[in-house]
Amino acid sequence: MVSISFNIKEWFNTKPTVNNLLSDKLLIIPIAITVLYFYINPELPSITNTSLSLLPAIFTADLISGIYHIASDNYFGNLEPIRTLADGSRHHHKEPGAMIHTPIKENFKEAIFNNIPLYTFSILLSPFYKELSLFIITSCHIANLSQLSHKYSHIRSHHLKLPFGVKLLQDWHILLNPNIHKKHHTSYDENFAVLNGWSSFISNRLFISLKSNSLFWKRIGFDFTEAH
Ligand SMILES: [Zn+2]
Ligand SMILES: [Zn+2]
Repeated sequence: MVSISFNIKEWFNTKPTVNNLLSDKLLIIPIAITVLYFYINPELPSITNTSLSLLPAIFTADLISGIYHIASDNYFGNLEPIRTLADGSRHHHKEPGAMIHTPIKENFKEAIFNNIPLYTFSILLSPFYKELSLFIITSCHIANLSQLSHKYSHIRSHHLKLPFGVKLLQDWHILLNPNIHKKHHTSYDENFAVLNGWSSFISNRLFISLKSNSLFWKRIGFDFTEAH
């Protein structure tokens, strides 16, 4: 059961460690953001616009997952809790099977934590560009599924039981196909997107371009010179 009691003063006084920040309270954020958006913009969006934006939102969600993954695999700075999350991401390369046993709640919490800056940005944008704001919020909501989809791809790679529907969605590349994700665990320099891989052609190019500007990124803690 998720507690919804929230003390702002206590939150500000909390030391920003991963354990403190990845609390169950994070699970409230997507609901709170949705409520806040409709409080600011009470008019319901048109069904046609919503349907048309669904595929681009899934694509954007996948791209978001790829960008976060590139950042977390290659961050070596000392800014917490980003450093601990990055260490966790690299640990996953050493022990990919460990994530199979992660509770679903934890998969959601990590993705939601990563989406906080985008959620905040979309709410600040909502009084001025409501359609764009709603699109970003929807993309973030979908991106919250990315670590779960990532976990399912590892479960299938280990030939463990998965619901038939999940396997079907993996075969249709609506969820992350294990064969696509295996390439990341071979080279660590491609296929960073973990929702379904639709946007990998962009994140793969982005990684190559970051690699070629590695001196700049090293100054702020990122090391793209080699795959980690
Ligand atoms: Zn990785
Ligand atoms: Zn993986």
